[in-house]
Amino acid sequence: MTPTLTHTDPIKRSMALGMKRGMKMRCPNCGEGKLYRKYLKVQDCPVCGNENSLYPADDAPPYFTILIVGHLVVAPLLFFPFIWRSPTWLVLGTTLPALLALTMLFLPVVKGAVVGAHWALKPRRAVEDL
Ligand SMILES: [Zn+2]
Repeated sequence: MTPTLTHTDPIKRSMALGMKRGMKMRCPNCGEGKLYRKYLKVQDCPVCGNENSLYPADDAPPYFTILIVGHLVVAPLLFFPFIWRSPTWLVLGTTLPALLALTMLFLPVVKGAVVGAHWALKPRRAVEDL
């Protein structure tokens, strides 16, 4: 009988698994503990104790979030002429809240994916940098 593992074998870290767990805002190591203690503040896992805060996400999450949200919101603005002819107050009144909402929605998901990818690749921020 094969023993059941609750945590990922540290030798076999899958990028897809780490990103999937991170996108669910869970610890990439065990998939159970919460990744954040505040909106975007990464915490060490309360379940397995993995030091998630040592994975450097830096500027990658905002970059990928802008890329995704830009394609979802700005691209339709450029492709549909009826939007160009609409009143400015209407376009700005719908576009700016959509940009804000999608950015706030995607940023923790994308940051979780970046932390999960770093978990698989194992780069760690030096403790002195914190
Ligand atoms: Zn964990």
